[in-house]
Amino acid sequence: PSAMPSNFIYDAVRSDVEQGKRDGRVQTRFPPEPNGYLHIGHAKAIVVDFGVATDFGGICLLRLDDTNPETEEASFVESIIEDIEWLGYEPADVRYASDYFQQLYDWAEELIRKGVAYVDDQDGDAISAGRGGFGKPGVNSPFRDRSVEENLALFRNMRAGKYADGSRVLRAKIDMNHENMQLRDPVMYRIRKVPHHRTGDDWAIYPNYDWAHGQSDAIEGTTHSLCTLEFESHRPLYDWFLEQLGVEGGPRQYEFARLELTHTITSKRRLARLVMDGVVDGWDDARMPTLRGLRRRGYPPAAIRQFMREVGTTRTNSRQSIEALESYVRRELNVTSQRRMAVLNPLKLRITNWPVDENGRPVVEHFELTNNPERPEDGTRQVEFTGELWIEQDDFREVPPPKYFRLSPGREVRLRGAYFVTATDVVKDADGEVVEVLATYDPASKGGNSPDGRKVKSTMHWVSAAHAVPLTAALYERLFTTEAPGEATGEALDDLNPNSREIVQGWAEEALAEAQPGEVVQFERLGYFAADLDQPMLFHRTVGLRDEWAA
Ligand code: ATP
Ligand code: MG
Ligand code: MG
Repeated sequence: PSAMPSNFIYDAVRSDVEQGKRDGRVQTRFPPEPNGYLHIGHAKAIVVDFGVATDFGGICLLRLDDTNPETEEASFVESIIEDIEWLGYEPADVRYASDYFQQLYDWAEELIRKGVAYVDDQDGDAISAGRGGFGKPGVNSPFRDRSVEENLALFRNMRAGKYADGSRVLRAKIDMNHENMQLRDPVMYRIRKVPHHRTGDDWAIYPNYDWAHGQSDAIEGTTHSLCTLEFESHRPLYDWFLEQLGVEGGPRQYEFARLELTHTITSKRRLARLVMDGVVDGWDDARMPTLRGLRRRGYPPAAIRQFMREVGTTRTNSRQSIEALESYVRRELNVTSQRRMAVLNPLKLRITNWPVDENGRPVVEHFELTNNPERPEDGTRQVEFTGELWIEQDDFREVPPPKYFRLSPGREVRLRGAYFVTATDVVKDADGEVVEVLATYDPASKGGNSPDGRKVKSTMHWVSAAHAVPLTAALYERLFTTEAPGEATGEALDDLNPNSREIVQGWAEEALAEAQPGEVVQFERLGYFAADLDQPMLFHRTVGLRDEWAA
């Protein structure tokens, strides 16, 4: 575990704990709306919410903020729970805002009785217009001064489903000229005769975010309600509701900056467009910034957690570079992943002086290669070597350009862990394309060693053609070409990269067939590749061995 972060939230929590506020308890919550899949931005909130609780010996609940029945589904609830678990956190409990609908309703009647909430018959447009704007005073609703009795009767009828959707709302009665627009009589309830995925047809009215959120926090015993900066202007309203209800020593809201990444979007609506338009295969496509996508891509949860902690929690919105996140991914995978050899653009290499056995068949040798130099306890594996091998097309040039030190006619290179070989000739097809490289090997260089101290400038990976297993590799470019998608036109989808994925067929050493679904292996010299979760021998390139995007 990394060191305790130092930031304004930790400072506030530490100070509260030291002063014994709320009995020195620390309780947070992660409050997603179950209307889509979690993405990398949510990971930031999860790491902050769970991290603060854990670091101070407290607890973090998962609260499904399920107050919009039109867009929410039970299946999203399940995916959210699974994704949080994948990221490495376990909620102390799973709660639903809908569990509190009755309590919220009762409290709303209490506010009506106190004379601080009223039923407004205006439609949405009239309510918006009446709110005014910055430097522009609001106008009281003609329904603002209804009696408590009338308001109670109307509100009960709203609840009983006697009015049409959108025909009335319940509003808090605060101040139509308040400098903070959130306090200009915010809506608490709206009529929606839509079945809810948990409460069915029980309710014809649903609480708005501001009314549901702080009160849910209070019911659960949240001490520190952490959310993103866009809710800063809601904080006075959050406090106002608690004060009206006489809640003392209740939750406090703290806001932190959203996490945005270069070349990435986190808008659920736009991510949904990518899925609907078939730009990606689904929410769990390896190019998606959803946690499911990152999982398929091979991002280790530990790398995501560490990145989120170390990037810090501030009150200034900024865009982090995706290369920074990738460096955490690479650092983690370097330690955890097995090394394998795979050739993704195969070219045949034939060793002309390779020996045959007494039956006239090419000799097969076995080399013992280290699985992971970073973790010797992972042991070694046997890799077969014969006279016909696959090498990368890029590793041979008939006419080598300047500073090209890989294989070319007359040049000697090392085949990793096996032998030195020298290219002698090529075989071409009718179009003049090189289809085979002929070479000789030096038996004295067995194991890739140089008995006479001879130097070669290049070490290449290879796969024995007779023993190779076929694989499919998905190679990725950025899903968006620009660092801040949509910055120029306002529409992120304008910056989509039309060529974000390339599928290639290659060959790998036999041991690769044992990779478990989701396992990430390092293909020597090519990068880290994640075994698909469903399709055998499909590998997604997680990230390269070094930052290839820097230039
Ligand atoms: P959308 O507006 O696309 O529906 P949302 O932000 O409203 O997304 P929620 O499911 O309500 O999504 O979010 C749950 C929690 O995750 C909230 O506390 C929210 O502030 C936080 N969150 C969402 N996106 C980010 C982000 N990019 N960075 C940090 N926290 C985020
Ligand atoms: Mg939300
Ligand atoms: Mg939202």
